Amino acid sequence: MMNARDLLPEPPQSDELFVTFANTLEFTNGIPTDHVAEPAALLAWLKENGLISERGRAGESARLHRDPREGERRMERFRYLRNLVHAIADRVNDGHPPTRDQVRDLNHILRHGLHYHQLVSEADGARYSVSQVGDHLDQARATIASSLANFLAQDDPHRLHTCANEGCREIFIDRSPTGRRRWCDMRVCGNRAKVARHRSRARGLPAKANAH
Ligand SMILES: [Zn+2]
Repeated sequence: MMNARDLLPEPPQSDELFVTFANTLEFTNGIPTDHVAEPAALLAWLKENGLISERGRAGESARLHRDPREGERRMERFRYLRNLVHAIADRVNDGHPPTRDQVRDLNHILRHGLHYHQLVSEADGARYSVSQVGDHLDQARATIASSLANFLAQDDPHRLHTCANEGCREIFIDRSPTGRRRWCDMRVCGNRAKVARHRSRARGLPAKANAH
């Protein structure tokens, strides 16, 4: 019998923001699907993840619709960050720290999320106010980048992995005691590797851990 609990939505995933963002590019047997390929999809994702208000989403949507070239430029900036997250995760997965260039690129994106104070003159005096370096979208992008920077600096980077299934490459954080899980999902990618190993054993061939 169905009880009320069965009707509840899935609990929100506790993954870090940069992980959720990186996995908007999903691979199935090595074939990519970009879940935020259009400005509308990206803006909806940013709204869903609390990185932009509904007003901000609507405003940016109208702006990028009016100016498709600007839309493409802004999409490219997010894709750049996503590639950077994947590249850094690959490095960390292989037991290395991010390269100097990767750190420079990440810091460059972080700078667009800076706030600064300034004095604003007004008719009856002056106001001390907070301003932003980047606009809505740069701020959102910097927030994603800062989730990665925080993780690398303060969490356990060795828990960050890229799925060992070459056709999947999903990014995940393994919070188990050892933190050494190799597959994003034991039942899907892990099982596939096990089946492949079993098959090669049956044929008398050497096992291939990453077969898919
Ligand atoms: Zn996987």
